[in-house]
Amino acid sequence: MDEILGQVLRNAVWERLDMLSDLAERADAPSLLSVARSELPRLAEAWRSMLKLHEPDDRGDCPTCSTRWHRSKAPCSVWQAAHEHLVAGGLAPQQPPRQRGRKAESHSAVHPRRHALRSGVSTAGLRSG
Ligand SMILES: [Zn+2]
Repeated sequence: MDEILGQVLRNAVWERLDMLSDLAERADAPSLLSVARSELPRLAEAWRSMLKLHEPDDRGDCPTCSTRWHRSKAPCSVWQAAHEHLVAGGLAPQQPPRQRGRKAESHSAVHPRRHALRSGVSTAGLRSG
């Protein structure tokens, strides 16, 4: 991909993210609900596809962030950002996630303190008022 196309692609993504943030702040409740239903699964899928590229290899390194000369230990910066924004930032699941054929993961445990964050989900930009 040449440089200009790359820039166009990146701008389109930044604009999309800005638009979503803007919607979260300004849209009325029915519009927001509609946007959330369509966009949240897409955002989740985007994170999944990105995180798959950063799954640690057999040596515990991130194959995407590592170079021939420098191994990047997992969790790499992408995983750290994911945890910071999706878990620590208050978008934690409100109920234990249903197991869909995947093995249980340690982060699926729900901490009692997290319950205090239930209303905090709105701080993630899904405020309706
Ligand atoms: Zn990585």
